[in-house]
Amino acid sequence: SQQIQFADDMQEFTKFPTKTGRRSLSRSISQSSTDSYSSAASYTDSSDDEVSPREKQQTNSKGSSNFCVKNIKQAEFGRREIEIAEQDMSALISLRKRAQGEKPLAGAKIVGCTHITAQTAVSGCLSGGLGWDISFPWGRKFFISLEWEKARSVEDAPVLAGVAVFAWKGESEDDFWWCIDRCVNVDGWQANMILDDGGDLTHWVYKKYPSVFKKIRGIVEESVTGVHRLYQLSKAGKLCVPAMNVNDSVTKQKFDNLYCCRESILDGLKRTTDVMFGGKQVVVCGYGEVGKGCCAALKALGAIVYVTEIDPICALQACMDGFRVVKLSEVIRQVDVVITCTGNKNVVTREHLDRMKNSCIVCNMGHSNTEIDVTSLRMPELTWERVRSQVDHVIWPDGKRVVLLAEGRLLNLSCSTVPTFVLSITATTQALALIELYNAPEGRYKQDVYLLPKKMDEYVASLHLPSFDAHLTELTDDQAKYLGLNKNGPFKPNYY
Ligand code: NAD
Repeated sequence: SQQIQFADDMQEFTKFPTKTGRRSLSRSISQSSTDSYSSAASYTDSSDDEVSPREKQQTNSKGSSNFCVKNIKQAEFGRREIEIAEQDMSALISLRKRAQGEKPLAGAKIVGCTHITAQTAVSGCLSGGLGWDISFPWGRKFFISLEWEKARSVEDAPVLAGVAVFAWKGESEDDFWWCIDRCVNVDGWQANMILDDGGDLTHWVYKKYPSVFKKIRGIVEESVTGVHRLYQLSKAGKLCVPAMNVNDSVTKQKFDNLYCCRESILDGLKRTTDVMFGGKQVVVCGYGEVGKGCCAALKALGAIVYVTEIDPICALQACMDGFRVVKLSEVIRQVDVVITCTGNKNVVTREHLDRMKNSCIVCNMGHSNTEIDVTSLRMPELTWERVRSQVDHVIWPDGKRVVLLAEGRLLNLSCSTVPTFVLSITATTQALALIELYNAPEGRYKQDVYLLPKKMDEYVASLHLPSFDAHLTELTDDQAKYLGLNKNGPFKPNYY
């Protein structure tokens, strides 16, 4: 994977361009909110762009300079973006209310690494209300001073520590690690919790400041790759604190993977290609959560959808849902769109690409940039033409063009937005994971990787129900006894 480098020879602050698509929770702010901003935007000072934020002297409204963003003057715009996002993230507000001033994170000093968007800001600001100790000399509101307009893309790779932000769009690899270092290596402050999304922060602490782990009570990890690395560390006996795998919690898998992709697949394809879906033949590779979401959305718009699968159970599910299950090679000549959602590598090979018809659109909704063999397209016999941002025409010697989106990286994260509501579910899950790890009595969690207890997953869902005015039925004592359940949950076994 490209998301994290554990190689021992990784140099500190090496000069590489920032990798793209590096995180699962890379979320751009919504186009509509950008639009609403653009008419009022007058903050951009082009001279700012020439100076690296690392070189700039900036001071926030509290008089502190201990942060690093592109342009502190855009704080007002950030504030508005956060207010908009907040409206769809009410579960975090209820979580704070239900804590009834108890501050379950009192004393927690959290260092985190994630994409900085309005939604992660909401999560940071509101979680502050749970007692998470900022411990830095500046006020919580500082968080909003990020220059949102410039810091909203997938390539940001920003970092937040407490609510102090070190992040800007267009960071180089060097900047990225510098930002992480500035959050970990702070005079007079030491984190006792890690909130990571991609494993880079955890990696940095392991490599550079292993003694920090003496005080760390736990790691909460959001991404597939980060979780994978944690399991590797655990297997090798090198994990020195408990870690919570938020990525595999039910509320993440069933909502982020399924519902988020169900909405953003159409958004990503429309924005990049203006394609009409009705009657189009689409093949979706992989019928897991992401694949199911993509297929449902495409079917609803009248596309003819084929599915490829390796797993007979998922294949059978696709059949039951009314999709033709085929091998990619059987339909590759006729389809108009190819979408990968497998989490695997080289699912679309050069051979497939050679056989596609003219104007076939190829994109990836699955893992990082491995699913489509893009390297095989970077050959002298093929011509690349950038026709729009994130849209390349790859042209064969006979004139055939294949439309490659986001160079094979995640389509929705590169080219569309992600619903705030889904991010609210993820953020609430993270907050609960932090609370659980931070407050767990000695011995409940060992130096291993854990899933969030089922009951907490259910709690996250219940916090979101009021948004729909949904009324949950309560078990009667008799019914609870009959099913062998506690009236307050958990209602399903862990494997559900
Ligand atoms: P999943 O395991 O539920 O589904 C993947 C499916 O692909 C499985 O059913 C598997 O059998 C199938 N598969 C594997 N190799 C295949 C092959 N060669 N051909 C056909 N099918 C194959 O996982 P998921 O939750 O659907 O996630 C899939 C990927 O999407 C993961 O890499 C995940 O990280 C990523 N993801 C992306 C987003 C996004 O916003 N784009 C969101 C969540 C997850």
